[in-house]
Amino acid sequence: MKIRDFLLIDLIIGLLTSFKHFYRKKFTIPYPYKKPKPAPRFRGFFYLNPSTCIGCGICWKACPIDIIYIKTHDEQTPEGKRKKVVDRFDIDVQRCMFCGLCESSCPNGTFKLTLKTGFYEGAVYDRKEIYFDMYKLQNWVKEKKEKKNG
Ligand code: SF4
Ligand code: SF4
Repeated sequence: MKIRDFLLIDLIIGLLTSFKHFYRKKFTIPYPYKKPKPAPRFRGFFYLNPSTCIGCGICWKACPIDIIYIKTHDEQTPEGKRKKVVDRFDIDVQRCMFCGLCESSCPNGTFKLTLKTGFYEGAVYDRKEIYFDMYKLQNWVKEKKEKKNG
């Protein structure tokens, strides 16, 4: 038997390492009791305010996998100007890779179409649930947050 083994040197070194880390700041979070706050640039689930979308279709063109579906019609404003009205705005989120190209290409800025909702708890039992139409784009994250917070 080596003297190192006899004096339990390795065990003492191991215990000292454990004690050294015992009072250090913890990096793990007891999810779901505590929830990590995402970084400001984190891409979570979508939010769109359809009333402020101008229906330009730039996000649809920017999407590399063609999962945005937009349908618009033209209307005349009281001032006699032509205005696009959005009839359909769907995103097939189940296929989305959260690249953010749609958001960054939106000329109306992040308040129109955004992934910066900070929401990441999007687990569902049915994949079809994460096909977002205009209503879901506006309300899904809010409803999910309310449900999770009880
Ligand atoms: S984030 Fe999703 S919807 Fe937007 S451009 Fe990328 S793949 Fe398309
Ligand atoms: S790019 Fe922005 S404003 Fe244009 S259709 Fe998409 S969400 Fe609406």
